[in-house]
Amino acid sequence: MQPSFYHEYPRIFSLETEVLDAAPGRLLLAASPFFPGGGGQLPDRGLLRWSGGEAVVAGFEIIEGRNWVLLRTRPEVAGKVEAVVDASFRCMMMEMHTYTHILNACVYQSFDGALVTGVQMNDDGTARMDFDLPDADNDKLRALEAPINAAIEKDLQVSDSYMPFVQAQGEPGLIRTRSVAPPPTADGMIRIIEIAGLDRQACGGTHLASTRGEKRLRIVKIDNKGRHNRRVRVALL
Ligand SMILES: [Zn+2]
Repeated sequence: MQPSFYHEYPRIFSLETEVLDAAPGRLLLAASPFFPGGGGQLPDRGLLRWSGGEAVVAGFEIIEGRNWVLLRTRPEVAGKVEAVVDASFRCMMMEMHTYTHILNACVYQSFDGALVTGVQMNDDGTARMDFDLPDADNDKLRALEAPINAAIEKDLQVSDSYMPFVQAQGEPGLIRTRSVAPPPTADGMIRIIEIAGLDRQACGGTHLASTRGEKRLRIVKIDNKGRHNRRVRVALL
């Protein structure tokens, strides 16, 4: 199994590569630094440069496991290109994504293994996480802001590894929800993100190398969404 470039090198934002295949408005690169989105994390932004031109990346489409880059224009491109990820956007996403793991860990530990029912990160430095918490006290949820930021301050190491999907399914808490966990790889493996001493869970996104990012996390609002769900709205500050 070959890990994705954005998993192996989440802090390399520019890559010289070449065009493997092309169709109107889309290109397939030999290696792509772009995270295509998923698990609540927004797709990367960026551009492609080549001798004589450049084009803004409009999105991505995974076809048969291959990450096509979509373009708004239809340039004639072949050979070498430079793929450039919008680093500040990716770094903000990695920070928010890492912090949502910490929020998730704190809820899981404080509320008897409560599971995630949804997560969405936004491009303005906010995010929401939904939890299956039918009887939760919202003040107790709000009070998690302190231990979340304490875990951020501790600068705990964040690492990834792979394990057989079948084994992960048998370990309680590793797969917090179907909507967040990544699909298994073709050879039946699943990616696990571990925050040292705090949390382990399946995830296919990009994260900080350790928990202390530039900003801290604020719990902005808690909404009751139906009888079972609590929506926790957070923001980087
Ligand atoms: Zn993650």
